[in-house]
Parts: sequence; C-alpha cells; structure tokens
Amino acid sequence: MPLRLYNTLSSRVEEFQPLEGTRVRIYTCGPTVYNYGHIGNYRTFVFQDILRRHLRYRGFEVMQVMNLTDVEDKIIRDARAAGLPIREYTAKYVEAFRIDRKLLNLDEVEFLVRATDHIDDMVELVQTLERKGYAYRSDGSIYFRVSAFPDYGKLSKISLSGNRAGARVDADEYEKADARDFVLWKAAKEGEDFWETPLGPGRPGWHLECSVMAMTYLGPTLDIHSGGTDLIFPHHENEIAQSEAATGKPFARFWVHGEHLIVNGQKMSKSLGNFFTLRDLIARGHKPTAIRYLLASVPYRKPLNFTFEGLEQAEQSLERLRNFRQRLTAEKLPAGSNPHLAERAAAALRAFEEALDDNLNTAEALAAIFELVWEGNIAMDRGEFREGERGHYLDAIERWDRIFCVLDDEDYAKLKQFGFISGVATVAAAQGTPADGQAATGYAATQPEGLSDEVIQQRITDRERARRGGKYREADQIRDELLTAGVVLEDTRSGTRWKRK
Ligand SMILES: [Zn+2]
Repeated sequence: MPLRLYNTLSSRVEEFQPLEGTRVRIYTCGPTVYNYGHIGNYRTFVFQDILRRHLRYRGFEVMQVMNLTDVEDKIIRDARAAGLPIREYTAKYVEAFRIDRKLLNLDEVEFLVRATDHIDDMVELVQTLERKGYAYRSDGSIYFRVSAFPDYGKLSKISLSGNRAGARVDADEYEKADARDFVLWKAAKEGEDFWETPLGPGRPGWHLECSVMAMTYLGPTLDIHSGGTDLIFPHHENEIAQSEAATGKPFARFWVHGEHLIVNGQKMSKSLGNFFTLRDLIARGHKPTAIRYLLASVPYRKPLNFTFEGLEQAEQSLERLRNFRQRLTAEKLPAGSNPHLAERAAAALRAFEEALDDNLNTAEALAAIFELVWEGNIAMDRGEFREGERGHYLDAIERWDRIFCVLDDEDYAKLKQFGFISGVATVAAAQGTPADGQAATGYAATQPEGLSDEVIQQRITDRERARRGGKYREADQIRDELLTAGVVLEDTRSGTRWKRK
C-alpha cells in the first residue's frame, strides 16, 4: 500500500505522491526563538521528524525547510527589555534549539533558516502583491486585501461572511480596511528594530516570513506544508492567500497538521504550573530518548496527554526494547533455524511499515514491534530461538529504529557534551523548573547561575584537547555551549582567553 496522509485542505486521507519524481518538498513552521522550546512544540517537531524519516525509509528524497522566526512582536518586546539587538537576543535560543534537536534525535533538515536573513526576499513578495493589486498601504504599514482573494478560507473552512469574533487575528493597532485583512509589512515604531527597504522603514509580518522562506528554497508549490493545528488559522490560511495571489499556483498540495499536547488532561500553561520545556524534563532526570519515545508513541492526529507516569512507562518500554536487542546481539543461540519465527519477524516488519503508511500510525507501528519482542523473549526462554533467526529479528528492530530513533542510548554522552550533567559543566543546563532531587535515571542536571571560572577553564582545556585531536566539531560545540552560557572565547597566539558577556 502506498503512503496515505490526512490532508487538512481536502479534509480526507489521501494517497501521497510528490509532484516531481521521488523528491518531496516539505516546509515546516519552526519555532519563534525568544524562549526555550516546550514539549508541545517538540511533539510537533517529533511528528514531523517521523514523517521525514518514513518518507526517506520509503525511498523518497526529502528537501525540508524549517524556519526560525527571529523577528516578531514578542521577540522585539523581550529583546528591548534585555537591551539587546534582536539578532543577539535570539542567538541564545537559536543555539538552544539546535541542541534540543540533537538531544531528541531530530534529523538535520536541509535548510534551517532565519527570517532576518530573508528580508529582501520578503520585500520582493510584498512588491509583487502590490503590483497585482492584493496589497494596500495604511499609515506606513502594508496589508493584504482578503476580499481580493476569493479562495480565502479554503484551508480552515472559515466563512468569509461570518463573524470571526474570538478568532486569533493580528491584534495590532494599525488601520485596516477590513477586519480580515492581515499585515504584510509593519511600519517602524519608535524604539523598535526595523529595516530600511524600498517599502519604507519597517519589518515583515509573521505570515509573510513563512511564505517567503518556503518558496525561496522549494519553489512556488510544496508537496507538504506542516505545523500544529493551532497554525491552521490564521497563519496557514494567510500563507496560502499571499503565496497563491503572488504566484497564481497552488502553494502546498498536502497540509499535514499535528494535534496538541495536553498535560494531565489540561491545556499546558504557565499559570497552571504544568508548563514544561524539554529542559525542564531533563532537569527532572528524564532521558531525551524516553521523551522522544513518548512524543512519538501517539499518532499525530490524536491529542497527546502528557503525564509523568506516562513518561516513566515510556522509559520502561524503551528499556525492554533495548534489553531484547542486547539479548539478540549477545545471547548464544542453538544452531539451525525456525521458519515459524522467521515468518513472524517478516510479518511484524510488514505490520510496522503498513502502520506508518497508514497516516503515520505510530501506535500500531509500536505495537507490531512489541509483539515481536514479547514472542521473541518467550522463544528464547524456551530455547526455541535459533541462530538462523537472529538476523531477521535484528533487521526488523533496526528498521523500526530508523523511524523511532531511540534504541541507541547516547543520552548520557549527549547530556555531558552539552553540559547538562552536574560535575562536568553546567553549561546550557535546564531552565525554570528546579531539579526535584536525584531522579531514577541519575541525570542530576544543575541550574546555571553562571559558570564558575573553574568549569570554564575545564571546558577550554577540553576544547584544546579536542582541537589537538582533530575533533573540530566537538571543539566548536564546546565553544557554542560556552557562548550559550554567556562566555565568549577568543583564540590568541598565547592561548584562549575568555570573558563573560
Ligand atoms: Zn509558518
């Protein structure tokens, strides 16, 4: 069976094929980099990673763009409060996002791009929209005229004539001709960052950023555009309007949206005290691979109810899988083969692949592999498992892990590398929620009240050693970690000097 995906645009599950050959062009809305990513964000990014990995598993070549929204109202507000230019203010969170991605085994996307690197492209799109009569100016800002685009609402199925009270719209105090119109270009305001452009001084609207970065790298028509369901309206609706108005071509063929994550049955919010960043969970001693496993275990179109019991169960399930793989690798088995067991491995592999083809049903894909593990353990205990089956089983598990990416336990090494583990360095350690005691997994992360001189010196020595050993990536990572923690290194002839930012 071919891959089928639920397309929000058609409200149906459809067979997926890319527009051209085997190359799949994907755009995924990335984070707004003014804070650490929370587990709701990472639920979406993990689902998109599963999508990406499964496409590749099925032989497609993936070209994926993810944006980093690094200019936006909240960023400007917070950067101003911190007294920093936005580029400098966001650098810390951009770096934290890269580290979080590595911790969660999120595959590198082909283009991870920053909005502020594409201002010229954004200006061009606005000029095109002006030329074609879709945009108008008011008080120095430029708006998209929704009434000029009859297809508006086709993604979210909102009614154009209806009253949209309560809908999330750009709540700026700019003058609009119609309440539905949205801002493409915001006039510069006193004391805020802006760009001098042919459109006048100002900055891009958020929706514009995504359309431009998507089309710059992937062309006018994407195969898949993805994000959380909260982005359908108005963000994705507006992306469609401005992109299709400018090019006259369909913007995205498939719109694939991930459902929310809730915590203990409630919406995650800071005021309820149930708001967790990835780093909060790590600070409580949870392993990134177990977090990934949990986030991946619920099919993306179902809400995921996050609980700490659920996370502990995920840790146990993951251990069971690892133990079985270890057994498969190391246990001495009787010679010969057992055709029944070989068939079982093939059937489990098929069930796993078909589950993912079925709109990424990760729960069934997991069930298929657990059944195999359960049967395999029993067969080994009874001495029925033969040498001949070892390869079949290992192959099934290895293929499963190409998608789920959790079996190699590199958590400790990574947490150490990125300075999350106490006693090594406290760089980039978790923010916000304090570590509540030594956790079962033994990862006691510490709070970064600034690094001691001793730790900084130690990390500089580590970096020197890495460089001497030709491990330049590791050396760069250490430098980046220190930078994240507010320590700037300067290499001089007489050695490395450092200073606090
Ligand atoms: Zn977007």
